[in-house]
Amino acid sequence: MINSGRVSRHAVRNPEMWIYEAHRLEEMISASNEAQSQTILDMSGTVVLQVGSADLAWPVRTVSSTIHDSGAPVGELRVSASLAWLLRDSLLVFLVSTGLAVGTFFSLRTLPLRFLMAAVNRAMFLASHDPLTTLPNRSLFGDWLQRSLSDVEADRRDPDPIALLCLDLDHFKEVNDILGHEAGDELLKQVADRMKGCLRKEDFLARLGGDEFAIVQRNASQPDGSTHLSERLIGLLEEPFELCGTDVTIGVSIGIAIHHPHQVPDPQSLLRHSDLALYRAKADGRGQFRFFEKEMNDKLAARKQLQNDLRDAVERDQLVLFFQPQIDLTSGEVTGVEALLRWNRPGNGMVMPDSFISLAEETGLILPIGDWVLMEACRQVAEWPELSVAVNVSPLQFRQGNLTKTVEEALHRTGLEPSRLELEITESVLLSHTEEAVSTMKRLQGLGVRIAMDDFGTGYSSLSYLRRFPFDKIKIDRSFVADLENSEDARSIVEAVIQLGSSMGMVSNAEGVETVEQADLLRDQGCQEVQGYLFSRPLPSASIAEILSDSAWRDVKSQVG
Ligand code: C2E
Ligand code: MG
Ligand code: MG
Repeated sequence: MINSGRVSRHAVRNPEMWIYEAHRLEEMISASNEAQSQTILDMSGTVVLQVGSADLAWPVRTVSSTIHDSGAPVGELRVSASLAWLLRDSLLVFLVSTGLAVGTFFSLRTLPLRFLMAAVNRAMFLASHDPLTTLPNRSLFGDWLQRSLSDVEADRRDPDPIALLCLDLDHFKEVNDILGHEAGDELLKQVADRMKGCLRKEDFLARLGGDEFAIVQRNASQPDGSTHLSERLIGLLEEPFELCGTDVTIGVSIGIAIHHPHQVPDPQSLLRHSDLALYRAKADGRGQFRFFEKEMNDKLAARKQLQNDLRDAVERDQLVLFFQPQIDLTSGEVTGVEALLRWNRPGNGMVMPDSFISLAEETGLILPIGDWVLMEACRQVAEWPELSVAVNVSPLQFRQGNLTKTVEEALHRTGLEPSRLELEITESVLLSHTEEAVSTMKRLQGLGVRIAMDDFGTGYSSLSYLRRFPFDKIKIDRSFVADLENSEDARSIVEAVIQLGSSMGMVSNAEGVETVEQADLLRDQGCQEVQGYLFSRPLPSASIAEILSDSAWRDVKSQVG
């Protein structure tokens, strides 16, 4: 920058010096900054000297100073500089810093927001999806079903009906119980993947919980659309799954309910209907699909009524025990009886246990009912000193009820010797919580009570249970006994079981003996005990008391004696 007051006095007096000064200035200006100019004017305003460009880039800053000679003003020196570079640099600094500031602001603002949004999205996903299979869950499914039904209602054209398919895996519980929960989870994932693979994009698949799935099928003509889909799904899920290095075969049962466009949209009823149809598919032997039919509603109502009535049955004294004699095959003596439950239901006569035991188990009513059976069986048999009694115990009593305490109480109250009480359990007791089951069995045996394995041969791994559990008796299922005369296989199996049992110190009992030939075969095979219609049907206690003192009954026994 050139200072405007530097032109010396003697230079003004001598024009050569003006020129000299001007050259010096010019050199200085060009050396320092070409965006400047120097102008010397005389007193009349005439430019005496101009150094640098007269046309400087905007903005221009000018400073002027009067030149004196001997105290009198002789001219003026004007120094002008363009501030364009300053403007440009400032602008650049401004832009860069603003850019940086904006960048910093937005990254600080959006990053946490992005994390937050990711967390919100994840939470929303978890709230509406099943984390195991990543399928929509029951709540999202409910929304979707509601929306689908509303869409159909709003659509003025004639849209296709909506099919709701409820699916339940067959034998899933066994996989869980036998191979463990991890294998069960893996199976569910593989099932979900297979199902996804066979759906169209309009089909909505969800996992409702456990091994229950559901599909909303839209834009398909019905009932053909859901029939074809069900057939495909059943075929697909029948193929073996690889779990823990082994092939596992399950299956699926499907219940279908159809919503027609003119019907009132009611998702709850639709779900109930497809559930009823599923129930029917299961009851009809699994691996099948069934459409909802109106009569299913009536059956449901009847079942509800049955449940309500059963609830009151104990209090209203409507339960009755029948007793079926058990005969020692070698002596021909009645050595014991099996207590079999009947329900004297008003207006329905004697209801057999097959019609209500499973309902009692599902509803938990089997606990008070089972307590009553134990107490009543012990009370009754205490009156027949020559007999022991076998009581059927359901898995729920074994697991939940305080069975040991109930048994102790029943023995204590009735005075029955523990050795005269036998509890019959099926292998489903041992499928899960096996450690607990074994310790309960041992506690009961510690009281002196015997444990029999009922319906032997109908389960999955009956033989392996014999090795692992200390049964006192094996009851060979009547399906084997029924086949004895005609099937070589049945004969071999029964013989093997009897021998295995005897080598392990277990008494064998054959159920459902109906013919003399069966009784003879069983005796030849070494079976110790039998029961069946050949000897006696289950009878009320009064009839048992009668036959115990009846010589005609001894004649019946002599058929095998
Ligand atoms: P279960 O314990 O295997 O009882 C034997 C069933 O076979 C009885 O049916 C009996 O009447 C029937 N039976 C006996 N001999 C013959 C025969 O020669 N031929 C044929 N065809 N059947 C014969 P019931 O009384 O209908 O009982 C059915 C099942 O209900 C029982 O099978 C048992 O599992 C269950 N049950 C019965 N009473 C009770 C109970 O008090 N508690 C529990 N938890 N279950 C019970
Ligand atoms: Mg039994
Ligand atoms: Mg049985």
